[in-house]
Amino acid sequence: RQADIAMYAAKALPGTAALHYDEDMTATSVGAELQDAIRDEQLFLLFQPIVALDEGHRVLGAEALVRWNHPVHGTLAPDAFIPVAERTGLIVPLGRWVLRASLRQLAAWPAGTLLNINISARDLREPDFAGAVKALIDEYGVTPAQITLEITESMPVEPGDSFTVLDELRTLGVKLALDDFGTGSSPLSLLHDVPLDEVKLDRTFTQADPDERVSVAAGVAHLAEALKLHAVAEGVETPQQAERLRELGYQAAQGYHFARPLPAADFEALLPVEASA
Ligand code: C2E
Ligand code: CA
Ligand code: CA
Ligand code: CA
Repeated sequence: RQADIAMYAAKALPGTAALHYDEDMTATSVGAELQDAIRDEQLFLLFQPIVALDEGHRVLGAEALVRWNHPVHGTLAPDAFIPVAERTGLIVPLGRWVLRASLRQLAAWPAGTLLNINISARDLREPDFAGAVKALIDEYGVTPAQITLEITESMPVEPGDSFTVLDELRTLGVKLALDDFGTGSSPLSLLHDVPLDEVKLDRTFTQADPDERVSVAAGVAHLAEALKLHAVAEGVETPQQAERLRELGYQAAQGYHFARPLPAADFEALLPVEASA
């Protein structure tokens, strides 16, 4: 217990020194709590708007971001529990919860709304992950093209097994994004081999000094153009960043300059009013 609390405190309050704790013990007890959290619906989603960089920053859709409403520690950010979920294998049921909750929510929004959903590399190794995604799409009656699944570059997909499932997902009509682009160590050939629709520039590069000699933001924009990928910049905090990224060719962006991650109702209020049938 003591160990959990130390870890939560360190995550919840930046700058708080973490006490010593036994990593495995922490993973086990947090894991047990997380299992309850999934079952008892202690998880919830926030939605961060993704906006077009031209067209007056029109809201195109959102990225679903998970939170844990912990009974003792309050709202926890994903970095407090996703790593534990990955180590304990609970990332699979957690990911299923996120997918279901995301599609349920998407079904309630106007038909043109886009939703980006984070998946883990572990999901791609689950037998028939694409089948599970299809079952949820059918259950909630959303259009596959409304959905973009984000795969983080820091947990690179491995050649072979995971490419098949990516092809299956694309066959369903779901789109795929490479998340946190630029932070990982994937070879550029990955961009060529993996069937992608979108790259998301990590916020480190969005926020880099524009006078730096080598601009990763510009390089990624060129790559995206050459490979005909939708380019989205994350972590836009100033109007100057937004304007520069638009000039570089990014089609869309998200970040505190436009909006923080929002509860569903607040996000919904930003959407264009649905044309009456
Ligand atoms: P990410 O996919 O890179 O998500 C974007 C993160 O950047 C979010 O943090 C968001 O709140 C934050 N952010 C957005 N705009 C700005 C900005 O302008 N400035 C700054 N400084 N930060 C900004 P969050 O919600 O804490 O998520 C952290 C990470 O947790 C995500 O990074 C993603 O990798 C992971 N994650 C979140 N939800 C899920 C999920 O449902 N499943 C999985 N597998 N991972 C998730
Ligand atoms: Ca993401
Ligand atoms: Ca990201
Ligand atoms: Ca990131």
